[in-house]
Amino acid sequence: MTAHIFITGGVVSSLGKGITAASLAFLLKQRGCKVAIQKLDPYLNVDPGTMSPFQHGEVFVTDDGAETDLDLGHYERFAEVNCTQASNYTSGRIYSTLLERERAGGYLGATVQVIPHVTNEIKAAMQALHAPDIDVAITEIGGTAGDIESLPFLEAARQFAFEAGRDHAIFIHLTLIPYLRAAQELKTKPSQHSVAILRNIGITPDILVCRTEIPMDSGHIDKLALFCNVQRELVIEELDVQHSIYEVPLELARQKLDLHVLKLLNMDPGTLNLAPYRKWLDGVLNPRYNCTVAVVGKYSKLRDAYKSIYEALDHAGIASETKVKVLPVEAEDLENHPELTADILKQADAILVPGGFGNRGVNGKIQAIEYARNNQIPFLGICLGMQCAVIEYARNVLRHEDADSSEFNPQTTHAVIDLMPEQRGIDRMGGTMRLGAYPCRLNPSSISANLYGTENISERHRHRYEFNPEFREKMEKAGMYIAGTSPDNRLVEVVELPEHPYFIGCQFHPEFKSRPRNAHPLFKGLVAAALKKHRRENA
Ligand code: GLN
Repeated sequence: MTAHIFITGGVVSSLGKGITAASLAFLLKQRGCKVAIQKLDPYLNVDPGTMSPFQHGEVFVTDDGAETDLDLGHYERFAEVNCTQASNYTSGRIYSTLLERERAGGYLGATVQVIPHVTNEIKAAMQALHAPDIDVAITEIGGTAGDIESLPFLEAARQFAFEAGRDHAIFIHLTLIPYLRAAQELKTKPSQHSVAILRNIGITPDILVCRTEIPMDSGHIDKLALFCNVQRELVIEELDVQHSIYEVPLELARQKLDLHVLKLLNMDPGTLNLAPYRKWLDGVLNPRYNCTVAVVGKYSKLRDAYKSIYEALDHAGIASETKVKVLPVEAEDLENHPELTADILKQADAILVPGGFGNRGVNGKIQAIEYARNNQIPFLGICLGMQCAVIEYARNVLRHEDADSSEFNPQTTHAVIDLMPEQRGIDRMGGTMRLGAYPCRLNPSSISANLYGTENISERHRHRYEFNPEFREKMEKAGMYIAGTSPDNRLVEVVELPEHPYFIGCQFHPEFKSRPRNAHPLFKGLVAAALKKHRRENA
């Protein structure tokens, strides 16, 4: 039987519930458990796919094509579990299923209500993680205890635990212990109140994980234990980490969070050997080299908007003992001041243009790509970044001045990037793109095949537009190399410039499959080329 762990949050949002959940998943996996993990989000969008990165950070895409919360990226990267459609449910998705069923007559005769219908649907979502080969399922409940909109999720979790029995379902509450600088004191009261809110709705947390910027003393722990009704050793301190989020699992393991969890669930503790992880982390914290990669995007200063990209750059750095510094560049700044392009980008050892939607900043991205191409700066273009590389080549090499994507200029006579045929006529926005993992065949003589070490790859997608096949021959003749396509040779997936030190554009999103201990080949290639350039210039 699958055991269940619920993780709730108190006092404020942005406490790092996702990283705590992912770290716990990692530790349980290290002890031999098979783990599944999900996030429940209380908002009403069916998924985050239609939200602006300003609102929600990046949209993380799974192999099976779910557009999800960025916390799933933490789950995949920390715990190396592959997430699925069952890994992220929102209130919107729950309601949408329920209302469709209601219209189809699925509840004929009944009054459809939050309790039991919505809560039953939420319990089914929790149950979706259970499988004969899964030992532990972790459900992170978004929002903060006390929010009106997360109430149905908490009620469903309470019922779920009641039905499963308390040795099969436990609650971990992540809370903030604020430090009042003027009083020079840590305060436990907000946490006491947030636990009181949970107890009011029938949930007594088994474990408290306390986020704090300075260490707690035993007085704080005594107070939290007594007033929150939690065993003293189950009050865990999660101090702000000094250097890297990858220190979090070690800190939680030091306080035996994983062991306490398994004990509460009456499960075999297995053994935990963190020596290889410690050794790896030591390398992460002590890089020998450094290089700078400019990320030219629309939200470059908002780290969460390009979370997986920044992570993938870190991973590639880790693989080569390098600290990769990101130089965030707003594409619009380049667009408004084209004369500053060289000045801004000359500090960069490589340039990356990430994915995106809409017109804003596109010409700035194209300028950055032109600069990379002409100045032999290593370049990686991802999704829209690849499309911009194709537009740049068509404009500046083929001299089609109005070359564009029909996303930005439907009237162009040279739509080198165009809507995919299967996307024509779709007038709905949510969940309708080409989403998830698709196979791609790399040309054996491409740089990409060499980097991957194979010709057959599978990568995750999220796009509506594609390299227009009408222009393929012309572009190839002009020197752009089609390095990878869909297996039927219909869709262009990867382009390269063979004469350039490193110039790759890919229609897919490699960043979603990069792992801290298994960096992605295209990012490794970019960082290796950046380092080469950096060394040459600083020799
Ligand atoms: N807007 C482009 C498209 O829909 C690129 C999408 C992306 O970068 N993810 O094809």
